[in-house]
Amino acid sequence: MLRTIITQGDPALNKVCHPVSKFDEKLWALLDDMRETLLDSNGVGLAAPQVGILRRAVLVINGQDEILELINPTIVHTEGEQEDMEGCLSVPGKWGFVKRPMVVRVRAQDRNGNWFEVEDEGLTARCFCHELDHLDGHLFVEHTDRLYTPEELEGMMEDEQ
Ligand code: ZN
Repeated sequence: MLRTIITQGDPALNKVCHPVSKFDEKLWALLDDMRETLLDSNGVGLAAPQVGILRRAVLVINGQDEILELINPTIVHTEGEQEDMEGCLSVPGKWGFVKRPMVVRVRAQDRNGNWFEVEDEGLTARCFCHELDHLDGHLFVEHTDRLYTPEELEGMMEDEQ
């Protein structure tokens, strides 16, 4: 079932989410709905609070087009730094430059409650940080000085050519 993605201004996006304690059919239905909603949205990640559920669960699509389900995730290791354009399904039509670590290692539980670790770099590392921020009520706009519209971005790309 497609869920509605809430947008900036909805107070649910500024809340600290609760840990997931039950790995049951209710969680699996949420994860399945989030998967469908993410694939429908053309995004690369989705956090439960973005569909109004204040639980620590996120999905991230990695460079191999696999959808990772991260329950109760924490960042356990980072390396380096990258700065690139970032956007959010909950902040439609706006992008900004955000600094993130180049490599990020996450410890999380799967949908059955089993702990695992996953490490990635570049866009997927950026996505880990962005989605985990959502679980603590933070949006990427807090990490950037200026937001750009699609028209402004187009102008910047024309300037580069
Ligand atoms: Zn987001």
